Amino acid sequence: MMKKAVVLTFGCQMNEHDSQRMGSLLESAGYKVVPCSTTPDMVLINTCSVRGKPEQKLSQLLSNLKKDKNQNPNMKIIVAGCVAQQKGEDLINKFPFVDVVIGPDGEEKLLEYLNQINKGVSVIDINFNNEFSYAETLVMGPSHNSHAYVTVVKGCDSFCSYCIVPYVRGRERSRIIKEIKEDVKGLVKKGFSSVTLLGQNIARFGRDNNEDFQSLLNEISQVDGLKRLSFLTSHPKDFSKKIIKCFEELPNLCPMLHLPAQHGSNKILKAMNRGYTREQYLDIIAELRSSKVWDKLSLTTDIIIGFPTENDDDFKDLMDLLERAYFDNSYSFIYSPRPKTKAVELFGDKEDKANRPLFTKRLLTYQGRQKELALEKNKRLEGVILEVLVEGFSQKDHNKLTGRTSSGKVVNFVGDKNIFPGSYVMIKIIKAHPTYLSGEVLNVKS
Ligand code: SF4
Repeated sequence: MMKKAVVLTFGCQMNEHDSQRMGSLLESAGYKVVPCSTTPDMVLINTCSVRGKPEQKLSQLLSNLKKDKNQNPNMKIIVAGCVAQQKGEDLINKFPFVDVVIGPDGEEKLLEYLNQINKGVSVIDINFNNEFSYAETLVMGPSHNSHAYVTVVKGCDSFCSYCIVPYVRGRERSRIIKEIKEDVKGLVKKGFSSVTLLGQNIARFGRDNNEDFQSLLNEISQVDGLKRLSFLTSHPKDFSKKIIKCFEELPNLCPMLHLPAQHGSNKILKAMNRGYTREQYLDIIAELRSSKVWDKLSLTTDIIIGFPTENDDDFKDLMDLLERAYFDNSYSFIYSPRPKTKAVELFGDKEDKANRPLFTKRLLTYQGRQKELALEKNKRLEGVILEVLVEGFSQKDHNKLTGRTSSGKVVNFVGDKNIFPGSYVMIKIIKAHPTYLSGEVLNVKS
C-alpha cells in the first residue's frame, strides 16, 4: 500500500508553489499526497512568517502532532518554509519529534533528506542557495493540472520596514528567460494552459543579469498553447508603464494586477519604507484607468492596518485611497511585528494590545467598504458571458464546480462529469457576490 503524505500550506502563492513541488518530490519517492488523513505516514507543513498568527498556528499544530507521533513513531514530520528558515534549530529544540527543518532554499534536497531521516538522522537545512536547481516542471498529477506556478525571481531586496521576507528568502536573484521559457513549454506539454510567474517584487526581474520583466512577459506569452499568463507580485515603486503596454498588447496576458498599496497615508508609507507616496500610487491607477485594459482589469491589493503611529487622519487617507483605487479585493490585516525587521527595531516587538480594539474597528470599516465596492464591481458582470478555466469542485459547495475567469475571479457553477479540471467553459454570470460570481454553463470548449 502506498504511504500517505499530507502537505499543509500556510501563506502566499510562493508557498503554494513550493508545496506543489515538494508534493511532486514526495510522489516520486512513493508517497501519495492526500488532502487529509487520520493515519498519515508523513506530515509536511510549509510555513509562513509574514504575520505572527500562522506562526502560532504552527506551534498548535506541532503540539497536536506530538500525540500522533507518540502513537505512530514511524510518522515523519517535516517543517519547511519561512518559519523553518527563521527558527532553524530552535524548532527542533522545542519540538524534538520533528524530523526535518528546511528553509525555502533547502526544499529541493527533500529526497536526499528523506533518505537521511529513514536512517534515523534528523535534518536542519536553512542555508541560502543562489542557484535555481529546482526542476520547475515537477508538478502534481491530474487533479492540479489546470494551473501552474513558475518562480522567476527569488528573495527580495526591498526591505519594507515591517517585512521579514528579505531575511528568510534572502537576496533577490532572477532566473534567465531562456530557462523559464523551457519550463513553461514543458508545463504546456503536460497540459497546463495557464501559468503564473512568481517573484516577491517581479517587476525587478532580470536586473541582476541584464534582462527585464517586459522582455520576459513578451517571450513567455509566445509559448505555443499557453492560453493564460499572469504574474505576482508587483511592487508599486518598480511598476512601469511598460507593464501596462504589455497588458494592452499581449493577448494571453491576463487582465489581473496585484499591486500592494499597504497604506494610504504618506506618513505611514514612509515609515514602512515602501518607496512611493500615495500620489505616486494613485498615478499608477490613473494610468491604468486611461489604458485599454482597465475595463477588464481585476485590481487587488494588500493593506496593513495599525502600523505604529497610525492615527485617525492616516486611516482617513487609507479609506480615501480605497475609494479612489476601486480595488476588486484587498487582503487586509492588522500589523504584526516580525523579528529582525526595522519596524521592530524602531517600535518594539510587542503587539499594541491597548489599541487592538481600535485597529479591529478600523479593519472592519475598511473590509466592509471593500466588500461593498467589490460587489458593485462584480455586479457589472451580471449577464456577461465569460470564459472560465475549471479548477475542480467548489470547496464551499461540493455540488458545484469552480473555476476562474482570465481576470482571476472565482466563478461557481453547476456542471456535469464531462467538465474536468483544466477545461475551459463559457459561463453566463447570473449573480455577483463580493468575493465570487455564480454562473451557468453555456458550453464546454476543451
Ligand atoms: S517588497 Fe517589501 S513587503 Fe514585499 S517581500 Fe519585499 S520587503 Fe516584503
